[in-house]
Amino acid sequence: MDSFLICTCCGVSWDERDDILDDPQLDLVGFQVDFTGSSNGFFLFNHIVEGCGSTIVVGVDLFADLRSDAHFDKNLYGTELCPGRCGRIEDLVQCDKPCRNAWVRELAIIIRDRLKS
Ligand SMILES: [Zn+2]
Repeated sequence: MDSFLICTCCGVSWDERDDILDDPQLDLVGFQVDFTGSSNGFFLFNHIVEGCGSTIVVGVDLFADLRSDAHFDKNLYGTELCPGRCGRIEDLVQCDKPCRNAWVRELAIIIRDRLKS
């Protein structure tokens, strides 16, 4: 069976998505907008173990079903409606704009809460 995710730095693998969400050695540290618009962007996780500490990039779409409603179509990044949070990768604060990135931010908060519990 293929792993869901592998840390390219230390080689640790996670078989299922739940293994990621329940791993206290992972911390969600950022959201990177896909400026090409071809995907919903990427989440950045830090692998907090001795000898690693690298950042792992995972597609947002792999977590999309954790939050099903309010999947906004528009990407407002760079428009006058946008407060510009998405220009700062480590800024994971909620955004109230009707933008697909705001929806991803809510997803990020769900993932963070799960990692901390
Ligand atoms: Zn690692």
